[in-house]
Amino acid sequence: MIGPGSAIGVLGGGQLGRMFAHAAQRLGYRVHVYEQSGPSPAGSVAYRETVAPFDDVVALEAFARSVDVVTYEFENIPSEPLEAVARIVEIHPAPAVLGTCQNRRREKSWLRENGFPHAAYAEALDGDVAPAAARLGLPCVVKTADFGYDGKGQMRISGEEDLARAAAIFRGRRCVVESWVPFEKEISVICARSAGGETRAFPVAENLHANHILDVSIVPARIPRSVEEAAVALAARIADKLGVVGLLAVEMFLAPGGELVVNELAPRPHNSGHWTIDACETSQFEQQVRAVCGLPLGPCGCRSPAVMVNVLGDAWAWSDGAAVGEPDWASVLREPSARLHLYGKPEPRPGRKMGHFTVLGDDRERVLDLALSLKSRLAAKAGPTPG
Ligand code: AMP
Repeated sequence: MIGPGSAIGVLGGGQLGRMFAHAAQRLGYRVHVYEQSGPSPAGSVAYRETVAPFDDVVALEAFARSVDVVTYEFENIPSEPLEAVARIVEIHPAPAVLGTCQNRRREKSWLRENGFPHAAYAEALDGDVAPAAARLGLPCVVKTADFGYDGKGQMRISGEEDLARAAAIFRGRRCVVESWVPFEKEISVICARSAGGETRAFPVAENLHANHILDVSIVPARIPRSVEEAAVALAARIADKLGVVGLLAVEMFLAPGGELVVNELAPRPHNSGHWTIDACETSQFEQQVRAVCGLPLGPCGCRSPAVMVNVLGDAWAWSDGAAVGEPDWASVLREPSARLHLYGKPEPRPGRKMGHFTVLGDDRERVLDLALSLKSRLAAKAGPTPG
């Protein structure tokens, strides 16, 4: 056990690392953040921040020597230099898990080899999308194998014109082409796994996306109990098979007929689990601290229905590419059942995750209505904020 008072190293300095740092500090840990450019949202609340590239082995080794355990909040970190970290200090989840989950080609083939349900797919080397699309049929979606997130590096293909555009956009890139899943819902399960192999999963979240970015998570998900149980069991089986020590977020499609299809795996806390901070007995961030430090896992129960809404840079008012008006923070702060979390990012940008809020209450539909109404009240009205 790596006890309170020890130092935890976190690779990545975004909002997930920031909320992880808050949870770790509450349990008495010191957090050292490693990020490529600082000060980062996590680095600015940590006791120490190293600013260096993710492939700088010398800086990584010095970082590793300064802490008692390492984890991450971001998966686009080259996994090979992490082996140098692993030779010095425990790193959870293991670099091999990161290596599988950070690349869509490896992730898909791992799911296939281990018999987990996934969308039909074909590889397209060098951006040569047409043969793969012909094999799978249209519509389909092209995704770059590496460094894609929030819909970046992907394109839906519905017809011939899209194919020509995709060939130009993805030229020279290694890609995966997937069949389009006509899903009824998107859901996710966040599962923690201890070094001893115990798994505990949070209740299923139902996720609504806008422009490929998570917009709203609804808990409990509006799905039958049998699907909920199947989703939790599937996530736990995947975490077990991968041998994750830490957290694994499993994004799934619920296809017509109740079939679950795994879309993506992330071996870290996940945006669709932010509601756990305010609604659960243990948050996903505290659970990550517990799992990577060898503390007992906490209970994952949810105290009430919850709806989380992401606050993107789009909530600011924009004119000629400049933010000219702030969101109306008071509209959320005034609401007793809402909790606002902001990430301390200096510059808003359209599509950039600036914060989130969670609304709690006894009745899910009423909580959802209130959350959506707060979302529209929060958005800055056109024109500069007075004063
Ligand atoms: P991803 O980056 O893979 O999580 O994809 C972002 C979003 O694109 C997902 O949350 C879905 O809304 C949509 N999407 C991605 N892949 C598929 C697919 N094979 N079928 C249907 N929708 C998809």
